[in-house]
Amino acid sequence: MTLRLLAAAALVLGVVSCAGPSPTTGSGNSLRHDEWGHRPGPKGFDTVIIDAGHGGKDSGAAHHGLQEKDLALDTAKRLQRQLGGKVRTILMRGDDRFIELDDRVARASGKDGTILVSIHYNSSGSGVRGPETYYWRVDSHGLATRIQRSIASVSPSEAGNRGLERRRLRLTRNPDIPCVLVEIGYLSNASEARLCGDPAYRDKMAAALARAILDQKANGDAGTGPLPRPINAPPSRPTDAPGS
Ligand SMILES: [Zn+2]
Repeated sequence: MTLRLLAAAALVLGVVSCAGPSPTTGSGNSLRHDEWGHRPGPKGFDTVIIDAGHGGKDSGAAHHGLQEKDLALDTAKRLQRQLGGKVRTILMRGDDRFIELDDRVARASGKDGTILVSIHYNSSGSGVRGPETYYWRVDSHGLATRIQRSIASVSPSEAGNRGLERRRLRLTRNPDIPCVLVEIGYLSNASEARLCGDPAYRDKMAAALARAILDQKANGDAGTGPLPRPINAPPSRPTDAPGS
């Protein structure tokens, strides 16, 4: 009991000392909110916000008869089903509607015990393929590592962890909760587009995402390697990075 109390106190102190400069946007006084995310990844969170990228007038990538917005929504719903009963889930959008990125950030921010996973499909030259996972915050590194490992193990076009990348995007930098953006595969690559267009493959990818999320919930960052260095970068703006 005493040890647990000490551990809890140390955790609180750690959060205080790592909180960095004061938030510039109103995230309140809660110790659990941290605009910068300079802290270890979460363990035991109770809610997952599943964000299907794009929607409505914004179709995202479109190749080989597939639209990113449709596949992202389908995968988000599959992930919600996979997580059913194991953790609370919220869909950022449950149908084909447009939501501004900044509105997605606002809806995710300020929520205790919550993480955000944004689901996308990628586009590039026809020779590029494989899943990729983006994170920015220190507290999102473990989750991103788990997600990339898990989906790479399902994808025939990539093995290992080379698709993990630290990138400052609006949905990786701006929410004040742990957040990860995953690109399931390249629709611009003919063979990967065939895979991504197959509901059975999307179901496997959703299951891989669910395993990674539940691993993070059970184990925190354990086994995901050293934390990346804290970076005090400003919020991402629409002019920063296209295509996300
Ligand atoms: Zn996208």
